Amino acid sequence: MTIDEKQKALDKIAQEVRDFKGLEIAKNCTHAVPGEGDPDAKIMFIGEAPGADEDTQGRPFVGRSGQLLRQTIIESNIKIDKVFITNVVKFRPPENRDPSPEEIETCRDWLDRQIQIIESATIVTLGRFSMAKFLPDVKISQVHGKGQEIEFLGKKYFLVTMYHPAYALRGTSNMTEFKKDFEKIKC
Ligand code: URA
Repeated sequence: MTIDEKQKALDKIAQEVRDFKGLEIAKNCTHAVPGEGDPDAKIMFIGEAPGADEDTQGRPFVGRSGQLLRQTIIESNIKIDKVFITNVVKFRPPENRDPSPEEIETCRDWLDRQIQIIESATIVTLGRFSMAKFLPDVKISQVHGKGQEIEFLGKKYFLVTMYHPAYALRGTSNMTEFKKDFEKIKC
């Protein structure tokens, strides 16, 4: 696919997400959050679900966790406009509760298509929900900061499993761990 074709295909997904009303969280959100970034990104970051700030703006990772994520990306000499940032679930669960299995399943096809269109060499999961998409039977405490080759929908990726940035905000040692884990990401 050319970059133009990738952009068009991603725009189509974003429109589908914004038009979707088949879940309570989709009906009740202020803005859907399909994801954003370079259609030809070499690195894709996948979080859990939008929070309050993301719901207000319709953009992923723009609240406190998001600022930490974006700042750490920049500090790691990764160009922020060359990555793609999205979530497993595209609508805000109320009270920041965990997304339900039904919500994850309903949003799955959009994320799968985003992954297939962008075909980034590296996928970085942030937190246990996005990790579980690729590695369903592991604990995040065992695999955070690890990189491995995986095959997903017939394509190979370098998968880096990281803690969610919200975890890093919960203490100095968590923050140190989070920043150290970033070193595993191949630019
Ligand atoms: N947490 C997430 O997992 N995703 C966002 O977009 C914001 C906060």
